[in-house]
Parts: sequence; structure tokens; C-alpha cells
Amino acid sequence: MKNYFLLIVILLVFSCRNNTQTIQTVTGKISPEEIGKTLHHEHLLVDFVAADSINYDRWDKNEVVEKVLPYLFEIKNAGYSTLVDATPAFLGRDPLLLKMLSEQSGVQILTNTGLYGAYKIHLPKYFYEETAEELSQRWINEYKNSIEGTGVFPGFIKIAVDRAPLEDIHRKLVKAACLTHLQTGLTIMSHTGLAVPAFQQLEILKENGVHPSAFIWTHANNEKDYTKQIEAAKMGTWIAFDKFMPESKDEYIAFAKLMKKSGLLNKLLFSHDSGWFDPAKPGGGEIRGYMDIENFLIPALKENGFSQEDIDLLFIKNPAEAFTVKIRSI
Ligand SMILES: [Zn+2]
Repeated sequence: MKNYFLLIVILLVFSCRNNTQTIQTVTGKISPEEIGKTLHHEHLLVDFVAADSINYDRWDKNEVVEKVLPYLFEIKNAGYSTLVDATPAFLGRDPLLLKMLSEQSGVQILTNTGLYGAYKIHLPKYFYEETAEELSQRWINEYKNSIEGTGVFPGFIKIAVDRAPLEDIHRKLVKAACLTHLQTGLTIMSHTGLAVPAFQQLEILKENGVHPSAFIWTHANNEKDYTKQIEAAKMGTWIAFDKFMPESKDEYIAFAKLMKKSGLLNKLLFSHDSGWFDPAKPGGGEIRGYMDIENFLIPALKENGFSQEDIDLLFIKNPAEAFTVKIRSI
């Protein structure tokens, strides 16, 4: 009898542990409830020099921190808890820099694993030599053992395809992302834009047994035939209107209304795709901050009949669900 009781306790503990959902930030795991108000697609540093020339010596971490920190304090003071940094490897992803910025600002930051294939110069040489399986092993290794031994772990997968129909290299990237997702539960954020490559990617997800809810259709604001976003959202895909600027307010409001009317507000993500320190420019160049959503979009949503509950869905609950580390298989 005693043993039986012990067994039940062990099983309960085990099942609780398995059900514990987490989001991976650069300073450790948090629960989805802890994500708070979130900007789901921004950049702190981007270096557009090619993959064969990029290295961490191209910027001084302290100089970047000094320049970028005020912008993080600005959103922190406006009530934001989390910023997702969408800069991939070979474009300036710097896990230790992100950790410094998070620790000094108090803003939770997520970084990523994956590769950027929209412009081929950002793909490293090994990408062309390896299979999707081999690439996914690199990314799974970062998930398991941290990025380059820094102790900083990726919170999602970032890939990028072209605006045009997919080429073989993009198919390989997407397949590698699928294989990584199935082993790690990391969500796939894919720089996409138009509907044709979006649906081609969803087809590859399907072939690999990955549910569309593991996929963020990034830069979906570029596709003007909104029936496509509605169709993808109905399948479970996250729709990211992530280039908000004050002048795009009416467009973003109209799309939010359409999503709400379609009962799909729970699949919509908003962000700025803003920033960033650019090592190619003197002093890092000019940074565009992360406050336009707070100053222009949220007030406009309220004026257009969106409730506080709707706004919390867009900026808290949806990011929490989208970035929860969870295998979403078919
Ligand atoms: Zn971006």
C-alpha cells in the first residue's frame, strides 16, 4: 500500500513537471504568465555585413549597451516586460550583449537559433554543404547546450525566406526549422512577407508533421490580399503585422478589426521591427525606438472599440502563447 502511494506521488510530480510550460529568455526560463506586455519582433543590433565577414569584434558591447539601454528603459517605463530580439546568427545576434542589456534594463529579452536566407550573403558556407538534418542538429545543440557555450539559450527559431516562391535553399531552411521544432518545441518565426511563400512554408510544415500554430508568418503586413492571412490564421498560423509606424496606423487598425470580426484576434501579433545599433555606421547610427505602438497604435485601438481585454490579448496573451516552448505536431 505504501509503495502504491509513493508511486502515485512520483507519477503526479512527473506529470506536473511535464506540464510546466516555459518561455526561454536570455537570462533563463520564465513561465508564460511572466511574459507581461511584449514587443514580439524588434532588433537591438543588426550588422548587414556578409556572413563571411561578421564577427563579435565589429562592435564594442559597452558602447552598444550605452546607446541602446535608454530605449529599453523607455519601454520598461511604459509597462513593457519583454522584447523579442529577432536578429539571427550571422546578422549580429550577440547572446552576451543581449544578456547585458536584459540585466541592466530589467526587460526580459528572447533570442533565437536558425539562419537568415532572404539575402544569400547572410548564409554561412556550411549551410550549403549540410542537409536539413545536419543544420537542425546545430540548432538543437544550441537549444540543449546554449549558444556557443555562453549559457544563453534560444527562445525561438528565426529563419528567413525570399518574397518570391521558395527556392531549394529556403525549403532546406524550413525543413531544418521543422525538424528542430519537433525536437525542441521552439516556435518558428519566418521572415516571409507575401502569401505565396507563406503557404509554401505551411505545406512544408505539414509534410514534416508540424502544426501551423508553431509558425509565425512574419511581415504578413506586406500581403495586401487579407483573405490569405485569414485563411492562414484559421489553420492556426500566427499572423505578424510587425512593421508598425505612425503612418501605418489605419492599415493596422483595419486589419485588427477584420481579425476580430473573424474571431481570430487570438492569432494576431503586432510589433515595430524597430531599432537598432548598426556597427557599419559611426556610433551605431540612428536608432528608431520602440514606443510608436504605445503612443499611436494602442490609443487608436481603444478609439476603435477594442477593449482592454483585446489589447491584453494582442500584447500579453498572444505573445505568451506564441513563444511558449511546446511541440505542436499534427
Ligand atoms: Zn526584423
